[in-house]
Amino acid sequence: ATPTSIMVGTGKAAESGILFKGGEHLERTHQLEAIVLDKTGTITKGKPEVTDFTGDDETLQLLASAEKGSEHPLAGAIVAHATEKGIDFVEVDEFDAIPGHGIDARLAGKQVLVGNRKLMQDHQVDVGGAEQELVNYEVEGKTAMLIAIDGKYRGIVAVADTIKETAPEAIRQLKEQGLEVIMLTGDNERTAQAIAEQVGIDKVIAGVLPEEKADKIKEIQSKGKKVAMVGDGVNDAPALVTADIGIAIGTGTEVAIEAADLTILGGELLLIPKAIKISHATIKNIR
Ligand code: ADP
Ligand code: MG
Repeated sequence: ATPTSIMVGTGKAAESGILFKGGEHLERTHQLEAIVLDKTGTITKGKPEVTDFTGDDETLQLLASAEKGSEHPLAGAIVAHATEKGIDFVEVDEFDAIPGHGIDARLAGKQVLVGNRKLMQDHQVDVGGAEQELVNYEVEGKTAMLIAIDGKYRGIVAVADTIKETAPEAIRQLKEQGLEVIMLTGDNERTAQAIAEQVGIDKVIAGVLPEEKADKIKEIQSKGKKVAMVGDGVNDAPALVTADIGIAIGTGTEVAIEAADLTILGGELLLIPKAIKISHATIKNIR
């Protein structure tokens, strides 16, 4: 490998907004056989909005006040929605984030739970006939969260996040380059499938806890495949480090950018097939 052609390659990549941390990463990129992409903030814009809410005003007030303590994009959507509705927020006395499941907060003398089925099961909340309603939102690609106050089910808040416009084309190009493309998410299977379908991904690994994301990468590697991970979140960092190539979304968290081998500016997914193309061209020049 001539250092000069690698330098030319990384320079060319940088001009396009593909920032490799070193030439060795550019070299390794041409060996990739599989690519795993996080859903929220990577394939989608990461700016979810509330589309449906089935509870009453008091529920919205407690729900939104509780979510103020969360840094999750889902929380941001709920707080924005309540603000728009002119809801007065109340002070939160205790707050626990339960990674991959939701939140558990104490405010106005009440316990507020917001999250997925697993969270409600773990707290023995009877959600009655909500299951069918949940499914209806999920097949539309929405993330639906259940709300319970003092152990009683109070409604659903559903949130939708739109895919990046160029995501389908980027996925198409990656497949054309011969890569196996997989979506990895903490969200539920049905929502994940709906989003995957919109962008043309047919392999989905859903319901993965933040600490399990890296294990999923190791599983693919154990089949002898060189794999890239693309992610934006703090919870993607271990998977980005584990992957043969970690790709951070430039609009994502600092933690993800630190953990990755390269960053794509503006989170433009088309830069990924472009990086692979530049890598192949560079290696061809070396040989
Ligand atoms: P992702 O991989 O999409 O970032 P997470 O692992 O962060 O997903 O979360 C998985 C699921 O846990 C969410 O789809 C949601 O149901 C629930 N959840 C996580 N954080 C919150 C929150 N702040 N409020 C309500 N639900 C949450
Ligand atoms: Mg994400």
